[in-house]
Amino acid sequence: MPCRSHPPGKELAPAEAHAGGDMPIIGAHVTGGIKGGVARALEIQAQALQIFVGSPQSWRPPNPSPAEVERFRASVAEHGLGPVFVHALYLVNLAAQKADVYEKSVEALANQLSWVDAVGAQGLIFHPGSAGTGSLEEARERVVLALEQVLDSYPGESKLLLETCAGQGATIGRRFADLAGILAALSFDARLGICVDTCHVFNAGYDLTTPEGLEAMVQELDDTVGLDRLCAIHANDSKTPLGAQVDRHENIGQGKIGEAAFARMLQHPAFADQPFILEVPGYDGAGPDLRNVQTLRRLAEPS
Ligand SMILES: [Zn+2]
Ligand SMILES: [Zn+2]
Repeated sequence: MPCRSHPPGKELAPAEAHAGGDMPIIGAHVTGGIKGGVARALEIQAQALQIFVGSPQSWRPPNPSPAEVERFRASVAEHGLGPVFVHALYLVNLAAQKADVYEKSVEALANQLSWVDAVGAQGLIFHPGSAGTGSLEEARERVVLALEQVLDSYPGESKLLLETCAGQGATIGRRFADLAGILAALSFDARLGICVDTCHVFNAGYDLTTPEGLEAMVQELDDTVGLDRLCAIHANDSKTPLGAQVDRHENIGQGKIGEAAFARMLQHPAFADQPFILEVPGYDGAGPDLRNVQTLRRLAEPS
């Protein structure tokens, strides 16, 4: 099932209608979660939003009240925002060698997926994990088994979205083929997809700063995972150079990727109607802000 940003029949919000329907959607990770996320999105003029449900640093299952969840859904609808994504807690590591971390990760992912449905989000974005001191092959096998458990116990249709990694340490998902291998081992379950993080792939060695590099990346993505599995783009510039294998986000245009590369991505047919979601430090250090949103909007306009 292809990943669509607009469910068929959904009425276009003014911002989307203005964009003409085949422009990328500019969004952001917003602080405040279910309680304050919508207000923050409106403040910075983000169309799509990504939130944490609960604390990203705690295993404790989140516990928002039904009224809070209802208010969130109602205000997303009222303001014509979306798509909405939930980002899983950072503690999740489906490749963990320690049995207790592995089990908690499976449980947490299943729990977060239930919140994706509750808040009306399109998918749950998560980092597949890190192999630790073990082999990457065994680690990938653990990720597959973990996802199998989560999918087997999940009756819904929301997406589980594996995010590309920067290649730091023994993290899983530095090449698209790694993620495709995981999807293939799960028979390409319709609920699986991926999220490409521009800072991560650049650090993992994909040179998306040149037209040829971008084309090669798009081609490789399509040949492995398949473009129809791409559900979101994390739009982040990078403090570190190509192939550095570290994960340090920078404001759009202030890092090593640069404005020209973002303009090419935003205007690339392969990414038309993809949500571009900022996870940048922001100009005042408080995360994605209006200035970064406006920068992406400007770069999305054909010049
Ligand atoms: Zn990201
Ligand atoms: Zn990152």
